[in-house]
Amino acid sequence: MQHTHDALPVDATAIDTEKRALMARWQGVKNDIEQLSASVKLLAVSKTKPTWMIKTLAEQGQQDFGENYVQEAVAKIAELSEVRVNGQPLIWHYIGHIQRNKTKDLASHFDWVHGVDRLIIAQRLSEQRGNQRSPLNICIEVNIDGEDSKSGCQPCELPELVRHISQLPNLQLRGLMIIPAKNSESAFVTTQQLFEQNRQYHAEPTLWDTLSMGMSADLAPAIAAGSTIVRVGTAIFGARDYS
Ligand SMILES: *Cc1c(COP(=O)(O)O)cnc(C)c1O
Repeated sequence: MQHTHDALPVDATAIDTEKRALMARWQGVKNDIEQLSASVKLLAVSKTKPTWMIKTLAEQGQQDFGENYVQEAVAKIAELSEVRVNGQPLIWHYIGHIQRNKTKDLASHFDWVHGVDRLIIAQRLSEQRGNQRSPLNICIEVNIDGEDSKSGCQPCELPELVRHISQLPNLQLRGLMIIPAKNSESAFVTTQQLFEQNRQYHAEPTLWDTLSMGMSADLAPAIAAGSTIVRVGTAIFGARDYS
């Protein structure tokens, strides 16, 4: 069944079939994760996917959603502002590349920002968050495989970044995030070690509780290494259409 991703499929039977398939994939991922660990949070990565899919999963109890594109996300967040899961609003995570001129949108619309890799970005987020809202949750992205093409700080920069970012007002520095290279077997374990080693630099170490790692294709090794948030798109929503 072909349809655009901007609207509901036209006829009611098609909607029903798609919704049921979506709920079944989500439940399957939930089950897989629960078999591996009882305490891992599932972040449903809804980038490029329409709001009816997000609503459908929210009705099933999914509260955390991840987005990569600022404009798309801001529109979806506004449209879904009345949606509640167990009486609480949705929790929005920004997991895309952070452009310096987009930090204001991130600070005003999101609950979490996962890809912080420079102090200047954290400083801007802290200023722009103000003290009006709850603190913005932050993960530092590490370029764990040393790839030139990737964003993320170098592991040796972590002590200074943790020390400084954890002292900024209006932010809560929660942990580390990685996007490993394909077949990078040691990335998850190395990140877990960096996470432990850098706790001592945090101004409030009890806040340091998050390892954001694991996607559709590598959930099991990420969870085995201690992931606390897995970011899953394709396995829940199906393949993305960027056309
Ligand atoms: C798109 C994306 C994901 C989800 O990837 P899937 O392979 O579709 O599960 C996770 N993390 C980041 C940073 C992403 O950009």
